[in-house]
Amino acid sequence: MISTTNKDMLEWLDTHIEKSYGNFIDGEWKETFSGSTFPLYNAANKHQVLGYFQNSTEVDVDQAVEAAHHAFKSWSKVPGPERGAIIFRFADLLEQNAEELSYMLSAEQGKALAESKGEVLRAAKEARFCAGEASRIEGDTLPGERANVTSSTMRQPIGVVAAIAPWNFPVVTPVRKIAPALAYGCTVVYKPASATPWTSVKLMQLLEKSGVPKGVVNFISGSGSKVGTPLINHPLVKGISFTGSTDLGIQINERAARRLVKTQLELGGKNPAVVLDFDNAEDIAKQIVPAAFACSGQRCTSLSRVIVVKDKKQELTEALLKELQNIKVGPSWQSDISMGPLINQQHLESVQEYLSAGIREGAKLLYGGEVLNTGQFADGAYMQPALLDSVTPQMRVAGEEIFGPVLCVMEAEDQEDALDIANSVSYGLAASVFTSQFSAAHQFVQESEVGMVHVNHGTASAAHMPFGGWKHSGFGAYSIGKSNIDFFTDLKAVYYQY
Ligand code: NAP
Ligand code: MG
Repeated sequence: MISTTNKDMLEWLDTHIEKSYGNFIDGEWKETFSGSTFPLYNAANKHQVLGYFQNSTEVDVDQAVEAAHHAFKSWSKVPGPERGAIIFRFADLLEQNAEELSYMLSAEQGKALAESKGEVLRAAKEARFCAGEASRIEGDTLPGERANVTSSTMRQPIGVVAAIAPWNFPVVTPVRKIAPALAYGCTVVYKPASATPWTSVKLMQLLEKSGVPKGVVNFISGSGSKVGTPLINHPLVKGISFTGSTDLGIQINERAARRLVKTQLELGGKNPAVVLDFDNAEDIAKQIVPAAFACSGQRCTSLSRVIVVKDKKQELTEALLKELQNIKVGPSWQSDISMGPLINQQHLESVQEYLSAGIREGAKLLYGGEVLNTGQFADGAYMQPALLDSVTPQMRVAGEEIFGPVLCVMEAEDQEDALDIANSVSYGLAASVFTSQFSAAHQFVQESEVGMVHVNHGTASAAHMPFGGWKHSGFGAYSIGKSNIDFFTDLKAVYYQY
């Protein structure tokens, strides 16, 4: 065991935990008006307090929004390339601090250390793309209707943006909101998920070190109802970038609509891998299994349904089973693990409930699913990854987002049937299709009702490509890539007569 333990992470934790962190408002670390804090525990060691965070209130929200509103006046006038230079420095700092950030990320979220490192480096890549975008805030020049009139369009930053993130990607999600906001000249009030506020503290320190002026990015921790609600309702907040569950996304959108402010919503998924034909089932399983079980299946783009044509089903299921058995569950700091605990006990119970419902409704549990709670597993919310077979479209496990390490296998009659099953859910985030037939791949790309489609490829996205969903998986401009300009800026049509 010792040889597979990352001792550096454990030693680093020993000397960096149990501190108390303030909110970051107008460039200063401040305690909340409520005077109350909440403890954050290690996801893989429920006895270890990582730190104490502010239980903020509406008063703190108000201060943070006022600071961001005030800072907007000057930040929005900083030339784009200069803002970009600051974001480039931030990307460099993310890389230089990747080790420490990964320790914090794995400790609070639970994912394997290698995954955390990958997340931090991905955040740096996305930040760099945004840094470049700050020099490409383009408008159009059109011919005037009259000889002495020029007609053009320009883009201007919308103002203060509320950024609200979930707990599954605590580093990349805030960076995905803050970096484009900075690039386009907006200012930010950011609320992390209560389950993962620790890495955000480090992000604020790095932003400050990069040269982001005071008040431009503000951070407030606290519960969704006490902080999130006043933040999204605040009259000075001009846009809401929210990543989280669909139910909450809809509520936020309703409130935003009343004030006519913009939203960018990244919501849940029920992502299919449609398998039509293959020469080697193992190759397909090697693509599907990591895309289903990375981050313990707690990814919005996790593959959760394998929809396979019936004459290929047995061979593929055997290959999936074999691949799944290679997943080793354990705490993040053990170097040979591939899957950490779930975020917490309550979420584990919810995933277990789905598994039971699936079995009650007639699905067959082919592998795993059991809760692990002895020895070191007693200190976190662990379960074995699960493979459910004979899942049919009307079952709950086939339509609802489980957000855990459960992969459902569904049989399709043929290509048409597979497409119908893939599209039969309320979500439309990402989908994969596996086939060597060009026409089948093309048809799937055309007809799948999703925001992101992958041919012969798991559901991994790229750091410069628009990212978002259809149906109940998203709303507003896609995040990542150049589509962000539609959320973070307003369009202005300009006429000059001379
Ligand atoms: P969640 O429960 O919807 O919470 C998301 C964030 O909203 C948290 O910061 C939460 O704060 C906050 N919040 C709670 N109540 C609020 C309110 N009334 N007003 C404003 N904010 C409020 O989601 P989660 O459980 O953290 O994350 C899992 C979900 O996120 C899944 O459905 C997953 O698919 C989705 N997700 C989507 C994407 C994507 O890009 N499409 C990416 C990742 C995750 P507290 O933590 O304090 O409750
Ligand atoms: Mg939640």
